[in-house]
Amino acid sequence: MRSNKINPLFSPILSLSGIGPKLDVLFQRLVGPRLVHLLWHLPYNIIKRKFINNIIEAEINSLITFKVDVIKHKPSYFSSKAPYKISCLCGDTPVTLVFFYARQPYIKTVLPEGESRFISGKLEYFKNTYQITHPSHIVEIDKLNTLKNIEPVYSLTAGLTHNIYIKTIDKILQKIPDLEEWIDEKIINKYFFNDWKNSLLKSHQPTSKDDLMESNIYRKRLAYDELLAHQLAIAIIRNYNQKTKGIKFNQNLNLVFKCINNLPFKLTQSQKKAWKEIFEDLTSPHQMIRLLQGDTGSGKTVIALLSLIHAIDSSYQGVLMAPTSILAQQHFNNLSTILKPLNINILLLTGKDTGNSRLEKLSLIKTGEAQIIIGTHALIQDDVSYHSIGLVVCDESHRFGVFQRLSLTNKGKKPNVLTMSGTPIPRTLALAAYGNIDQSRLTEKPEGRIPINTKSIPISKVNDLINRLTNKIETNEKIYWVCSLVEESEELDLQAATKRFESLNRKFKGKVLLIHGQLKEKEKENVMKKFQNEDYSILVATTVIEVGVDVPLATTMIIENAERFGLSSLHQIRGRIGRNNMPANCILLFKENIGELAKKRIAKMKETNDGFEIAEHDSLLRGEGDRIGKKQSGQPSFLIADLAFDKELLEDARKTVEFISNNDPKLENENGLRLRNLLHLFEKDVAIKTLLAG
Ligand code: ADP
Ligand code: MG
Repeated sequence: MRSNKINPLFSPILSLSGIGPKLDVLFQRLVGPRLVHLLWHLPYNIIKRKFINNIIEAEINSLITFKVDVIKHKPSYFSSKAPYKISCLCGDTPVTLVFFYARQPYIKTVLPEGESRFISGKLEYFKNTYQITHPSHIVEIDKLNTLKNIEPVYSLTAGLTHNIYIKTIDKILQKIPDLEEWIDEKIINKYFFNDWKNSLLKSHQPTSKDDLMESNIYRKRLAYDELLAHQLAIAIIRNYNQKTKGIKFNQNLNLVFKCINNLPFKLTQSQKKAWKEIFEDLTSPHQMIRLLQGDTGSGKTVIALLSLIHAIDSSYQGVLMAPTSILAQQHFNNLSTILKPLNINILLLTGKDTGNSRLEKLSLIKTGEAQIIIGTHALIQDDVSYHSIGLVVCDESHRFGVFQRLSLTNKGKKPNVLTMSGTPIPRTLALAAYGNIDQSRLTEKPEGRIPINTKSIPISKVNDLINRLTNKIETNEKIYWVCSLVEESEELDLQAATKRFESLNRKFKGKVLLIHGQLKEKEKENVMKKFQNEDYSILVATTVIEVGVDVPLATTMIIENAERFGLSSLHQIRGRIGRNNMPANCILLFKENIGELAKKRIAKMKETNDGFEIAEHDSLLRGEGDRIGKKQSGQPSFLIADLAFDKELLEDARKTVEFISNNDPKLENENGLRLRNLLHLFEKDVAIKTLLAG
């Protein structure tokens, strides 16, 4: 179905020469499995290499390119850990090339003794000698022109090097086809857009820092493409949904009332209102697609639970999907307790279920014996078939993709969908992410909650803070210590956290735990369990705790390098504490001399606990140029577009889609067919299938 022109971009990254399974895993973790996924991952910086005639002129630690005569190879005979060295001359200055784990025959062929080569790398000075460790480039004399003076820098994942990345993306850039323009002339002229191919090439080959700005027209063109594809896909699926019927639940609420009566608390006004809105959707003949927004701790889970039980009341199955297996397990435990007196069969299905256990569970789901099914994304995989799915609740998920899949899973019998977000999104942004989706908002906390007290302290006073923690350690209260966030490097992230862990553990022996993103899912779960159930007081973490793990006794949150976090992210992290009625404190540690915008973020955090207010303010600051944490802001995330900068593009995309929906809703005329290419490129294939089905 995809055109032959764009098909090659969808080959697996693994199919490229030089990419084996190990690298493939890293690429997959970073961007995804296919060539096209690297195209959407744009550089965030550039490095410049200076061409140097004589090494004496160069600054230590700078990136340089220069010519060497290879004099002598000095392999490391005694230990494989000792470096392999090659003595060279640059003019008449000695310079040593250093390699760890050199591949033997290979290194002799790329740097033969007695010949000259151009070398590029970072200049070091070690024991009175110039040296380059692992030159990034070695080229033959007549191939100097293949060396670039300026290279883009991409954010990477641990284990994936700059060089490999650059080589790979270069190969892919050569495969970009020429495609016929799908953007109308008016828009092209308005923004001075270039064609698609050139925009991609230029975005990946920045030549100055200016090229990295959001205002760069090449990036803008790609951002517009992305927004257009997204809006178009939503419109297509919406149009289709409006034509077909959904599932209608009963009016009578036997089990739901029983459950409400059993709850140990009364619903808040917000919860009642949200439930009423959901109830009306569920009992109407149309498919419900609703977003339930509310701060962490505002009580979304109960609303989800009532909706799920409503499904049972109407003889359907209810499904609750969580983003991680820890959260799925947590929901399962909580809901099992509440559901016990109601005699409802509840089942947990995650990636951990394999073999017979999985088959057994799949069978229970298929026969309908399992009434409420909780799990991860595994729940909407093709091999899971339901007896009568009536409602799907997605927890903490911003992924529109879920709706897309679901619209097709049960054609003709479309389950209701409730998606819950603990990171409130401003209305305009919700529109961008979900189209005109229905929304319910929980704007208050359950009664009796004490607002979290937020303070900021300069990092120079960290020792006072640590001393004050001694009192807390003696109670059964728990403390989170979140370490600085380095978006570009997981390794630096981990280093910071490990250091903090070690210093705290020296003072509070055996009371401190460490959790980070490079642990396996299972290991993370173990750490969380220990923190929750055993005699540990402090959990040092990179931002992995951001997802909604619930530790009721956690009353203190310390965020180190708070100036590096986006506002929504800070709020989200703070939401891990204050989950019962004990007083809770959040402490933001910051470096001296932080910027104006960072100051504003910290001030806002101290001023309010209201997630809706924070979300609006976050969006405002980002519009003022607050670039921090595009990835970590709670906003719907696009690969290229950033709504803080691309609001006008979004509006234009929306208008264009409106025009298309009125004039060529099935994308059949000339431009419509080109737009199908666009949808394919951004993998809105479900929209295309819908188009063909409807
Ligand atoms: P969210 O998912 O919105 O972060 P939860 O649903 O996990 O929040 O609720 C947080 C806590 O508040 C839970 O322990 C829940 O039982 C409790 N809770 C929910 N609603 C109320 C209420 N109306 N009154 C008192 N406690 C409530
Ligand atoms: Mg929750």
